[in-house]
Amino acid sequence: MIKAIISDMDGVIYRGKQIIAGAQDFVDRLHSSKTPFLFLTNNAEQTPLDLKLKLEHLGIHGIEEENFITSAMATAMFLRSQKERATAFVIGGGGLMNELYNVGFSLSESHPDYVVVSKTANFNFEMLKKAVRLIDGGAKFIGTNPDMIDPVEGGNEPAAGTILAAISAATGKKPYIVGKPNSLMMMLATRKLGVHPEEALMVGDRMDTDIVGGMEAGMKTALVLSGVTTPSLIEHFPYKPDYVFNHVGEIDLAHL
Ligand SMILES: [Mg+2]
Repeated sequence: MIKAIISDMDGVIYRGKQIIAGAQDFVDRLHSSKTPFLFLTNNAEQTPLDLKLKLEHLGIHGIEEENFITSAMATAMFLRSQKERATAFVIGGGGLMNELYNVGFSLSESHPDYVVVSKTANFNFEMLKKAVRLIDGGAKFIGTNPDMIDPVEGGNEPAAGTILAAISAATGKKPYIVGKPNSLMMMLATRKLGVHPEEALMVGDRMDTDIVGGMEAGMKTALVLSGVTTPSLIEHFPYKPDYVFNHVGEIDLAHL
C-alpha cells in the first residue's frame, strides 16, 4: 500500500523549460487523493521558494515550499543528527548556509567541525586552499551532492562533484556525500513525510540515482521514461524498478 510519493523533478515533471505531459495531472491527483508528497532535488543552490516559483513559471501549480527537499536541506538534517550546534566552513550558496543556520550551525573558518561543499559560482583558489587546510587539520569533509556537471543552456557547467574532486585531490580524503544516489536522502524524505520507507513510492527518470537510491532506502520504485532512460537501458542495470511508466501522468495510486 503506497501512502506517500517522493519524486525527482528533472526528467519527471519538466525537461529543460518544457513541462512533461501528465505532470499537472499527477500533482492534481496527489492533492485530490490527499497523498503526502515531496519533490527531491540534488540542486543545493535553490531554496524551496525558488523551486516553487520556478515550477509556477513553467506552468505547474499546486506545489508549495514544504513539498520540496533539496540536498542542502538533507545535508543540514544529516549534520544536525550527527552533532548539535556544530561549526562549519561552507563553500556554497546562500541556500546551503540558510539550511545550516536553520539547524543551529554557525559558520567558522577557524577549526570548524565540518567543511561543507556545494556548487557555487563564487568558488575560487582561496576557498580551495582554505578547505584543504581545514580538512588537513581534522575538519570532516561533507558534500551536498555528487553531480560533476549540470547541463545548462549553451553546454555543461561544473557542479559540486567537480569542486569536491579538487579538494579530494589536494587532501587525499573522500567526502561523505548526502545527495542522490545516497539512499540517506530518500530515508530523510520518508522521515519528513512520517511514513515507513515501504509505504513510499520513489519516482524518477534515472536508474543509477533515483531507482537505486529508492530501492536501497527500502522504498517501492517507479521509473518514468520521460527523461534519460530508454526501455532497453533498464536491462543494463543489475536491479530493476517495481514499476515503469511512460510519464508521471500514468501513475494511479489507487491501482498500485
Ligand atoms: Mg531526473
